[in-house]
Amino acid sequence: MKKIEDTKRTNFLSKLVPCKNCKREIEPKRRQCPYCGILNPTVTLKDIFSALALVLIVMGVVTYFMN
Ligand SMILES: [Zn+2]
Repeated sequence: MKKIEDTKRTNFLSKLVPCKNCKREIEPKRRQCPYCGILNPTVTLKDIFSALALVLIVMGVVTYFMN
């Protein structure tokens, strides 16, 4: 009983996030899922689109000042 409580507390403190592929909880800083082996398991499509949007904005600004 006590062991289960300890595990719950550890999970809460480390703020585990689900792998985008196998949905098992892993540490967000991990570069590779320890269960299914995919790379960047916590990077979602939303993150990729956010990064792309930022790149497009920067490119737009640069182009504006170049002209
Ligand atoms: Zn996984």
